Amino acid sequence: MSELIKTQALILESIRWHESSKIVSLYTRQEGLLKVIARGALRKKSTFAGRLETLNVVQCVISQKETRDLQILTQADILEPFGALKADLHRLPYGLAIAELLKKVFEKGHKDEIFFDFLLTMLHAIEVSPQPEIVFWYFLLKFVSFLGFKPDLRACLSCGRTDFPKGGWFVFKEGALLCPDCNGSVELSIHLTASDIQFLRKLQASNHRKIHELILNETVNTDFTTLLMRYLSFHLGHEIILNALKLLP
Ligand SMILES: [Zn+2]
Repeated sequence: MSELIKTQALILESIRWHESSKIVSLYTRQEGLLKVIARGALRKKSTFAGRLETLNVVQCVISQKETRDLQILTQADILEPFGALKADLHRLPYGLAIAELLKKVFEKGHKDEIFFDFLLTMLHAIEVSPQPEIVFWYFLLKFVSFLGFKPDLRACLSCGRTDFPKGGWFVFKEGALLCPDCNGSVELSIHLTASDIQFLRKLQASNHRKIHELILNETVNTDFTTLLMRYLSFHLGHEIILNALKLLP
């Protein structure tokens, strides 16, 4: 017996399959990550035509059978196409990088309705923020926390001091800071300046509904995408490279 699931979904990837079909990776509100087949999606008169593009949010109907790896998409209606995001080369790579990251980290499942809503809020924020890279850093910071590796930026891991006038080291293993007096050649750590630390703290404390308003005024030294991707890769035990970011102008 198969059951019909109606759910909202973000399209992460859609690839051609055989003559006229598509295999689509979805992050759904109800089931988490799912792979579905959209039969005949490439035919001109298909009801799927133009609907299965990466980063579309759709309301869909899926015929699901436990015993099947690939579920069947029977209907998809666009709820949000993120048109302005897709049309801007300074924004699109960040949206695509989020889709790529989910596909690489979640194999299947990871159902979480709050996370699903958070994802859509992030894509909206990338669409409107004057500095979309800030939203992307925020997403990465919250994503590592969601996976259980929340960085603790409050105090030096060793002596407990909370001010870092000369900066400090972010230690991957503990996901925490060491001040210059306590850092004794710790492996896998990255030096952060005082303003890097200040900005990361501000980022971590920001509300996700207001993140599109956050502007970077400080002069920061660190590329936070590299920092957070290295940190994530360290904890997942394998390197994750986001090809979508190579599209940035
Ligand atoms: Zn210390």
